[in-house]
Amino acid sequence: MPELPEVQTVVDDLNKKIKGSKILGVFYCDNKKAFKGITFEKFKKEIKNRKIIDIKRRAKYILINLTGSKVLIFHLKMTGHLLVVSSKQVSSKYIEKGRWVGNNLPKELLDPRNQFIHLVLELSGDKILAFSDVRKFGVIRLENSDYLSSLEAKLGPEPLDPKFDLNQFKKVLDGTNGKIKAVLMDQSRIAGIGNIYGDEILFLAGVRPDRRVKSLKKEEVEKIFKSIRPVLEKAIKYRGSSESDYRDTSGKKGDYQNHSFVYRREKNACGKCGGTIKKIKIGQRSAHYCTECQK
Ligand SMILES: [Zn+2]
Repeated sequence: MPELPEVQTVVDDLNKKIKGSKILGVFYCDNKKAFKGITFEKFKKEIKNRKIIDIKRRAKYILINLTGSKVLIFHLKMTGHLLVVSSKQVSSKYIEKGRWVGNNLPKELLDPRNQFIHLVLELSGDKILAFSDVRKFGVIRLENSDYLSSLEAKLGPEPLDPKFDLNQFKKVLDGTNGKIKAVLMDQSRIAGIGNIYGDEILFLAGVRPDRRVKSLKKEEVEKIFKSIRPVLEKAIKYRGSSESDYRDTSGKKGDYQNHSFVYRREKNACGKCGGTIKKIKIGQRSAHYCTECQK
């Protein structure tokens, strides 16, 4: 599932590519169930002719601010991603049964992961914005801007916010004795961290993912706090992780999976100590850690 670094990469790309564009209308949609809080028919009418003011991220949500105090919201969930394509590069039909059509397709669009298109918006400047989603768990909303305050109420602080300090992180851990990995992934406690970067942060901190919050020493809490920012920034630098479905807005893979410490490296040697990386289950999710480096 795309986490903070993947969503941030998409948001940065979108600001470069489609900020200021006008949405001319919906060109294609074959999954009306992706729309929540609005019917597809109403969405189609309401989205037309609105201009894109800017694109922001909150937790794992992509927030596309539009004129007329509306916000177009995407949550990518398991396998969703957004693609921006020049309409000149695809045929006049663009899409047939969710697949790109055209003789002159950019090679990235031929990647099977980019061939599950469920929504295409036509934009000014010969551009199109497409939503690809193999598993179809992704959610699309069109809300009034004041919806953002109700979203805000459900989410913990942003770990890359300059104001996010050790005291705020201690509050994240307050009143729970859950396993630290699960707590880091709880969006109502801290925003944007999921399975991949939860494992990576805890490796850098030297703390086992199944440790109970109340068993953590003061120094360990500090180490975890100090590991959050470097891991997320490193992942943004590599444009996210694509060991499975995630692709950027050009349809290209991120590169973090080639630089990870422990995530999906079970049975391999730890890059730091040479010990063996182990995979365990925490709740329904997997966790990876080094049996030597993490206590
Ligand atoms: Zn190790």
